[in-house]
Amino acid sequence: KGERLRLPPWLKTEIPMGKNYNKLKNTLRDLNLHTVCEEARCPNIGECWGGGEYATATATIMLMGDTCTRGCRFCSVKTARKPPPLDPDEPYNTAKAIAQWGLDYVVLTSVDRDDLIDGGAEHFAKTVSYLKERNPKILVECLTPDFRGDMAAVEKLALCGLDVYAHNVETVRELQRHVRDPRANFDQSLRVLRHAKAVKPSVLTKTSIMLGLGETDAQIYNTMTELRESGIDCLTLGQYMQPTKRHLKVEEYVTPEKFAHWEKVGTEMGFVYTASGPLVRSSYKAGEFFLKNLIQ
Ligand code: SF4
Ligand code: SF4
Repeated sequence: KGERLRLPPWLKTEIPMGKNYNKLKNTLRDLNLHTVCEEARCPNIGECWGGGEYATATATIMLMGDTCTRGCRFCSVKTARKPPPLDPDEPYNTAKAIAQWGLDYVVLTSVDRDDLIDGGAEHFAKTVSYLKERNPKILVECLTPDFRGDMAAVEKLALCGLDVYAHNVETVRELQRHVRDPRANFDQSLRVLRHAKAVKPSVLTKTSIMLGLGETDAQIYNTMTELRESGIDCLTLGQYMQPTKRHLKVEEYVTPEKFAHWEKVGTEMGFVYTASGPLVRSSYKAGEFFLKNLIQ
């Protein structure tokens, strides 16, 4: 059993707070929204909520509860075979709260709900359409489960009015079984993203991989190639961080220079957008990029 690696200096950062940060934080209390940003104590919260150079505020909201039917070895979310039932009012109430909150870009995400017939696709889709009715200008990304490869569920979501369809492959092809719940796999995830694009070509597709789980450079390169060949538009790469001692160990702290290298490789491969850095998370400052570059 190896020693735990020490945290390198580039991960011991001060969190910069943008100017919108306090405003958003103060209004959040009354809205009853659960943000991944706060719950996961994401180090990017100052930048995402504060907006960057273009003052575009992004946040990630959790739908469908806090209990997952799967158990990935990198993830600290609670697990149960049968989580509590969905709140039928959640789509409407969440949409209303987000519209009031004053975001430019929102990421809606969820646990996996393999206990539900459609995996929760309808619930997601309703939230998006209520939100777009109230605030047609807000950009919506859904970071979704794989719906067990149920293409009807994928289609429902792809056609609901969202702007970005995201689903994470999480790691290189070779480490899928080691890292993700056995019900997930690389090919199924690729099929989900390909199908979303096929039914709605104007939707941008997006995926994310964590580095530092023991993957080799060749595996990263080949995985990126496969993602691009599947027509995925956007890619993010970030450092895996071990959430508790019971989760997979960090095998390597990838240097900022190496992350910059992968960003260059991604751009050369033709991804519309590649974000790669130690603190990059799948939703990292997404709004800033999309508003500035793609949707104008
Ligand atoms: Fe929230 Fe994602 Fe930004 Fe972190 S990276 S603060 S989870 S939107
Ligand atoms: Fe965590 Fe998602 Fe895996 Fe559930 S499916 S354990 S929420 S990573």
